[in-house]
Amino acid sequence: LYNMVQDLKGNIRVYCRIRPSFSYEAKTVIDFVGDDGSLVILDPLKSQKEGRKVFQFNRVFGPAATQDEVFKDTQPLIRSVMDGYNVCIFAYGQTGSGKTHTMSGPSGGSMKDRGINYLALKDLFQLSNRRKDIINYDIHVQMVEIYNEQVRDLLTEDSSTTKLEIRSCTGDNGLSLPDATMHPVKSTTDVLNLMKLGEVNRVVSSTAINNSSSRSHSVLTVHVHGKDISGSTIHSCLHLVDLAGSERVDKSEVTGDRLKEAQYINKSLSCLGDVITALAQKSSHIPYRNSKLTLLLQDSLGGHAKTLMFAHVSPEEDSFGETVSTLKFAQRVSTI
Ligand code: ADP
Ligand code: MG
Repeated sequence: LYNMVQDLKGNIRVYCRIRPSFSYEAKTVIDFVGDDGSLVILDPLKSQKEGRKVFQFNRVFGPAATQDEVFKDTQPLIRSVMDGYNVCIFAYGQTGSGKTHTMSGPSGGSMKDRGINYLALKDLFQLSNRRKDIINYDIHVQMVEIYNEQVRDLLTEDSSTTKLEIRSCTGDNGLSLPDATMHPVKSTTDVLNLMKLGEVNRVVSSTAINNSSSRSHSVLTVHVHGKDISGSTIHSCLHLVDLAGSERVDKSEVTGDRLKEAQYINKSLSCLGDVITALAQKSSHIPYRNSKLTLLLQDSLGGHAKTLMFAHVSPEEDSFGETVSTLKFAQRVSTI
């Protein structure tokens, strides 16, 4: 049933989320948020008439949208993983626009406002329990970080140096990250403990390179194995991705490591855009191999897989340039 509903909507969708403003003084560039997924922004340097830019997405969440509202619109897609579909959800946007808030929730681990990662697993446990008389599900998770095109395990006590290889493995039920630790999860407590470990490792590794975690992509992969009473099995996965900040870095201001890092991020995000665009246009060649990120996610992008991108924007005037480029990127990968 979930799939019937989902299939009608197509396999690539784009949601936009606008975070609340941090200051009462700052002017907002958001002019209109429609129930139908339309969004109008205003260029602060132009007149009302000339500065209007109109965008259309599958859905737009305004600053007042709650975590539960966002999750509710994502839930059917997430649930299709229990029917054997691969699913990929990304958070895209400049640093500070709310990506981590959507995926993980506020930092500090408060139970209030938990994000999609936690709510998704909680929901999968509930669904698994509801179906337990007909299907037996096993759920495992892996979590890695991609920094400068190197992949690191976030769910091991010693995440420091091991660099993981990605295996390209579409369709054969193989694992794309055979060497990343795989943890069975049965309860939300298991999930919270692992996420805590992942968060700590992410902070440790970014501190070691004297940097912020916003310069790496983090990927939480949920593997679902199901076996029904007739003995037939499914294996599918859900990738939940908190991408590195998409902001353009001024090349005249950064050098050395920062410049290299910016170039890696730029390359992998544009490669992601190219892959999704190629899929949306049903192109015969999909350039998965051009980045570690798309190679890792290959089995969950395209084919029967379902993809959702959250385009995050900040409402303040001084973010206008980045907001426009985020919305343009999102519009490009959108099929509507
Ligand atoms: P990013 O991961 O894109 O860099 P964050 O998720 O860390 O951005 O968000 C930046 C700040 O804004 C954080 O303090 C976060 O808690 C807050 N924030 C982001 N989105 C929301 C929201 N929808 N509601 C409340 N606070 C938010
Ligand atoms: Mg973040």
